[in-house]
Amino acid sequence: MRILISNDDGYLAPGINALANALAPIADIVVVAPDSNRSGASNSLSLDRPLSVQRAANGFYFVNGTPTDCVHVALTGVLDYRPDLVVSGINNGPNMGDDTLYSGTVAAATEGYLFGIPAIAFSQGTFGWEHIDDAARHARDLIERYYDTLPRPYLLNVNIPNRPYAHLTEVVATRLGKRHQSEPVIRSQDPRGKEIFWIGPPGATKDAGEGTDFFACAHGRTSITPLQVDLTHKSQLAALEKALA
Ligand code: MN
Repeated sequence: MRILISNDDGYLAPGINALANALAPIADIVVVAPDSNRSGASNSLSLDRPLSVQRAANGFYFVNGTPTDCVHVALTGVLDYRPDLVVSGINNGPNMGDDTLYSGTVAAATEGYLFGIPAIAFSQGTFGWEHIDDAARHARDLIERYYDTLPRPYLLNVNIPNRPYAHLTEVVATRLGKRHQSEPVIRSQDPRGKEIFWIGPPGATKDAGEGTDFFACAHGRTSITPLQVDLTHKSQLAALEKALA
């Protein structure tokens, strides 16, 4: 099996290193990831400047672009083959509910999916790298167990609780939960006294009920949500047609 690995935390992040180490024994891997932390980059493409692909001493490729750039360039320019799987992560922190719209981790996987390749985004349920090798081993287990059996093409959003490998035993299918609106921006001043803004933290959970990704991870279970890309609000189509008539 040939696996393309990317992320949004950058090619030096512990999460992508752990994932590459875990997958190397079961697949031919290639890592193409941003040269810096691009968390929150969503599905953005860099259209206003050229992209360069460089190779680090450990063999990882790094790109002066977004997660989506990385997978796009890898699939259409760098690789001379089509990978069997695109994986992204393992992200430092959760990508649940509305996070998935902003996430560069999910976006990297989505780019693979848009090219018709099975794709999986991996994130840890909480911030901190303490159990990252456990999460990576668990991610490999999931790929080995389910890669062949799921209907294709699939785009899976996986959140893994931060806990030792021996305690990563429960895996459940979930739907995305929902967050309240984001916290306000944080006002500050630059050194010259000009007002500046930092984007604030995401909102607290609004729908974290049973069946959601939030609920699963809070209860120590690995959450797998199947995603789709079509944003059409299908249940509103008929009402809109009527309103336009
Ligand atoms: Mn990130």
